[in-house]
Amino acid sequence: MANSDELLLRRQRVLGRNSPLFYETPLHLVRGEGAWVYDADGRAYLDVYNNVPCVGHCNPRVVEAISRQAATLNLHTRYLDENLVRYAEQLTARFDAPLDAVTLTCSGTEANELALRVARAISGGYGIIVSDNSYHGNSTILAGLASSFPGGEAFPAFARAVRVPDPAHDRQGRSDAELAAAFAAQVQDAVDSLAADGIRVAALLIDSFFANEGLPDRVPGYVEQAVEIVRRAGGLYICDEVQSGFARTGDAMWGHQLTGVTPDIVTLGKPMGNGFPLAGLVTRREWIERFGQTSRYFNTFAGNPVAAAAGMAVLDEIDRLDLLRNSRETGAHVRAGLERLAQKHPLIANVRGRGLFFGVEFIRADGTPAAEETTRVVNRMRENGVLLSRIGRRGNMLKMRPPLVFSSADADHLLSALDTVLGGL
Ligand code: PMP
Repeated sequence: MANSDELLLRRQRVLGRNSPLFYETPLHLVRGEGAWVYDADGRAYLDVYNNVPCVGHCNPRVVEAISRQAATLNLHTRYLDENLVRYAEQLTARFDAPLDAVTLTCSGTEANELALRVARAISGGYGIIVSDNSYHGNSTILAGLASSFPGGEAFPAFARAVRVPDPAHDRQGRSDAELAAAFAAQVQDAVDSLAADGIRVAALLIDSFFANEGLPDRVPGYVEQAVEIVRRAGGLYICDEVQSGFARTGDAMWGHQLTGVTPDIVTLGKPMGNGFPLAGLVTRREWIERFGQTSRYFNTFAGNPVAAAAGMAVLDEIDRLDLLRNSRETGAHVRAGLERLAQKHPLIANVRGRGLFFGVEFIRADGTPAAEETTRVVNRMRENGVLLSRIGRRGNMLKMRPPLVFSSADADHLLSALDTVLGGL
């Protein structure tokens, strides 16, 4: 096996130096199982970062479904294929009315791009409203909209960005209702500002769980009011569930179900194929058909028989392993443990998140965001055999989002390592 230092040099030679890698000393992983991964020296790491292998790294049933179908037939979707139809039936059955049809893609980016096109076709508008610390993909338009992960594209003239409320920082003595109204007013300002430029709003594109924004606690009424404003202006609500979908939030299969509003379009990705490239959007059949009257959407690899087999196996495993319950119960165990650590370690300013998705914000005694300390914790956790990362607009939050098969023993391992690392800072 290639030595890790040599592999890094070879990688830089053929991928360039800016191809992103985690950690000061990159990690060379060679194998995974359940919530654990193993490096080239055989060292085990608890994976508290990767949501893509949601039903576990190398889940045997998903591997078997992919292998069996790959050995049988793999083609595009312009022939009749029972796998595709069965998967679409099983997926849409998990959504509330009127969301009853799906178009599959290969990435979250493609799903969001298509969602914007459908929203423009259905609404007749052109403007897009996003949050000001979001990420929805790497295409030209989506990279331009991204501020949490700048893509070097200019923010488009047909878009506006609004700030979403983070009660830990924005409350200033206000009630939930006041906070929701104050921040929803920014959405009305965005609609009006687009209109002043002669642009009608086509879509509000947000992740209702606000994963890339740093998982702020939900402000009841905010999403509801924001959507109401956009719909009143003729636009659609696209909910990006690339991160919050598939039982991640513990209390519901879909993140939007934690709010009081059903989206017009839901976009999906990351965990959908447990690592096999599978993503898509779910909306009303009537709209997909109306969009199809004027626009042909074809995507060579999307929804092929192998992708559909992977998607079905993932849904089956979520049910068989009762991962929604595990996300809720093990998630509650992690959250309680993190809150205990917050009592002990003053650097922890607040704990956020639910299900198996958490943030921990670090703020110094003088009130400044502890970004350097956050990086140090991420690196020390790795040295202690636990993988996690950072989020938030100030880079001072730990991001924890393990495979959904995370056990309570895994949770205790995480909490104990974090306690040790924070104690040694
Ligand atoms: N939406 C959200 C919320 C994401 O976090 C991401 C990826 N981080 C995407 C969309 C883009 O998905 P992909 O990388 O599959 O294109």
